This record gives sequence, C-alpha cells and structure tokens, in this order.
Amino acid sequence: MATPAETSLVNATHQADLAIVGAGIVGLAHALAAARRGLRVVLFDRTEPAVGASVRNFGLVWPVGQPAGARHDRALRSREIWSEVANAAGLHIDPAGSLHLAYRADEWTVLREFAATPLGSSHGRTLLTPKETVARSATVELNGLLGALWSPTEATVDPRQAIRRLPAWLAAAHGVELHFGTTVRHIDLPNIETTAGTWQVNQAIVCSGQDFETLYPEIFAAHPITRCKLQMLRTAPQPDKWHLGPALCAGLTLAHYDAFKNLRSLPTLVARLRAEFPFHHEHGIHVLLSQTAAGELTIGDSHHYGLTVDPFDREDINTTIMASLRAFARAPDLCIAERWHGVYPKLTDGASELVVAAAPGVWIVNGLGGAGMTMSFGLAEEVVARL
Ligand SMILES: Cc1cc2nc3c(=O)[nH]c(=O)nc-3n(C[C@H](O)[C@H](O)[C@H](O)COP(=O)(O)OP(=O)(O)OC[C@H]3O[C@@H](n4cnc5c(N)ncnc54)[C@H](O)[C@@H]3O)c2cc1C
Repeated sequence: MATPAETSLVNATHQADLAIVGAGIVGLAHALAAARRGLRVVLFDRTEPAVGASVRNFGLVWPVGQPAGARHDRALRSREIWSEVANAAGLHIDPAGSLHLAYRADEWTVLREFAATPLGSSHGRTLLTPKETVARSATVELNGLLGALWSPTEATVDPRQAIRRLPAWLAAAHGVELHFGTTVRHIDLPNIETTAGTWQVNQAIVCSGQDFETLYPEIFAAHPITRCKLQMLRTAPQPDKWHLGPALCAGLTLAHYDAFKNLRSLPTLVARLRAEFPFHHEHGIHVLLSQTAAGELTIGDSHHYGLTVDPFDREDINTTIMASLRAFARAPDLCIAERWHGVYPKLTDGASELVVAAAPGVWIVNGLGGAGMTMSFGLAEEVVARL
C-alpha cells in the first residue's frame, strides 16, 4: 500500500502548455522551439541524465550528408541553431568542416561527380588536391591519396557535454520545467501520467527514441520503424592539445549518406566495396572521425538493423573499424580508452523522420536515424510551428 507521502505525490497535479517526453536531442530541440514561441514547457526523461542515442554519437552536425532541398536546408538551419545555443549555453562547438577522402579512382569519380552538382559546388564545397588536403588536415594519410571534398558546413559538438548541459540551460534561460528520473506511463490529454504524479497540459510531443513499447506501441507497430545498433570507440584525450580539425571520412562513407545516393558513378563504387570488403558490408561498417571538447577522438561505426538489439559487442568489428581508420588517418594516440554501442530508431521505407499525430494534441517525433544531431533543431521549429 502507498504511504501518505507517496499518495500525495501521485495525486499532485501540475500544469503546462506542452509536455515533452524524452530529453535526447529530439526532445531538447522541441523544448527549445516551443519555449522560444512562449509556451510553458515541461520535459520528462526516464533517466537522470538522459543516456540514449544522443549521448552516444559522434556529435557531428553533418549537412553535407543530406540531399538537396528541404532536408539540406533543415540541416543548415539546425547548424545555425547549434551555434546560437552553444554560444548562449557555453557549449563546445568546433566549426571545423569536413573532408571526404578518396584513395581509389572510383571514390574520386564519385566525389568529382558530386562536386559538379549544385549541392556539391555551393556552400563553399570544393575539391582539393592531395597537397591542399594535407594543408587543411595534418591527420590525413597522404600515401595513396587522390584528393578530397572539402565542405565547411559541418560542425562538431560534444554530445555528452551538450545533452547534459542543455536541460539546465533550457530551465535557466527559457523556464523549461525539468523532471528527470520520471517515466511517462500514459497520456490521455489533458493528463500526463508519470511515475512522479500527473500533469495537465494542452499538448504533448513524444520523443522517446528507441522506446517503441511504453507509449503508443500500436502506432509504432503500424509504421515501418526498426532499431539500428552501432559500435563506437574513443581514445583518451590527445596529447598537447592536438586538434583534429575537419572531421574525416573516406570511401566507405560515400555509400552511406543520401546526398550521394543518386550519383551515376555510385553503383560502381558500391559494387567494388561489396566485393572487396564483404565483412564491412555484412556489418554496415563505414568510418568517421570526430573530436570531443576534451580532445578525445570518437571513432565508429557499424550498423545492425532489427527490433531486438544484440547486447554483445564484437571485437572483430572494432578491429576492422580501427584498421579502416588507420588507412586514412594518423593521430598521436589511437589507443582505445572506451567502447560502447548506441541504438537509434530507423525508418525502413527511406523516410527521414516520423512525425505523426498519436491522438488529438499528441505528436510522436522519431525515426531521425543517424542524423538526429544534424536535423533535430530545424525539424523541431517546423513541428512546433504546426502545433
Ligand atoms: C553511435 C551513434 C552515432 C551517431 N552519430 C551521429 C552524428 O554524428 N550526427 C548525427 O546527426 N546523428 C548521429 N546519430 C543519430 C542521433 O544520435 C540520433 O538520431 C538521436 O540521438 C536521436 O535522438 P532522440 O532524442 O530521438 O533519442 P534518445 O537520445 O535515445 O532520447 C530518447 C529519450 O527518451 C527517454 N524516454 C523514452 N521513453 C520515455 C518515457 N516513457 N518516459 C520518459 N522518458 C522516456 C529516454 O530515456 C531517452 O533519454 C548517431 C547515433 C548513434 C547511436
């Protein structure tokens, strides 16, 4: 039986205009967009602090990976908001851009074709010779390098720092009410039933990440959404304040992002990569390199799809990621200090996000796949404008 204190907690009723479930980047971005429009926002997360996909990623804000049009525009708007928020909240942001490196003729052909498109030739994007590439990044392996695509639109944030500090800043600067360690059990507007009592709100946005089972499981089940598990690695801080500069990737990554999807030269590259690297193909390995505020290098990743996530990480995948990294990057200390995996929801029909009305006044925003850090701030402005 509940004690009197527990009973009064459970019966407590609180009020706000909008409830947000989930304090990952999607929930935080919606809290900001709503608060900027003057709404009183209450934000819930089951854990304290949030430990979902948003603290487990590279921190790469990566417009260059998005296809031309609305998605690329949204990514650029997100990057703008990241800069504003980082300045206001005192967060690390490194606007160092990115380099896509080519070591094989078919990779260079894809980059040349991309650089001839409006997307690849605007926003300061340009092809570099090997000499120009190493002038931009001393990390790049010069041996065998044919050239690179330079893009200045990418920025790196520190996900662990940002996701932990943003809630406190949202509370202080925008009056967002925070309830961590609080699971939202049921929504029946105006009531939001949580493990810490019932709130009354006009509207709710459910940003529950890979939890498809607690709230509106039937709606998730009716949409083509699954989970993707990714293995990640991190070094200790690099010595002597060594700076990575542009985030780096190479040929495998060209097969991963939608920005390159419709290039005529891509199928030839993909066919060669599949034949030459069957293990990479089987485990969805492509390699990105970013750096945290403290100077650690973040390295990954692999991709395994399915609703049930294998709890066991494979060391042969980590070894392959590191071997692929060493083919294009040199850094003072590539000894691994941490390994982990993350899980993000992914739509299997190729859509870039799931924004769906779950009930009158309740929206689900999910399924941003591997681009949540890149897209959330821009998407949230669009969603909140429609409320
Ligand atoms: C390894 C990895 C690398 C990535 N790299 C990048 C990158 O570099 N750039 C990029 O743009 N994207 C990247 N992504 C993708 C990005 O991290 C995700 O798209 C994004 O974090 C998803 O955010 P989210 O808020 O939906 O989910 P989450 O961060 O998982 O947050 C969901 C939150 O909801 C809470 N929650 C769920 N249900 C409830 C409930 N009922 N009550 C209370 N709380 C609840 C959970 O506790 C959780 O904190 C990467 C992802 C991974 C896993």
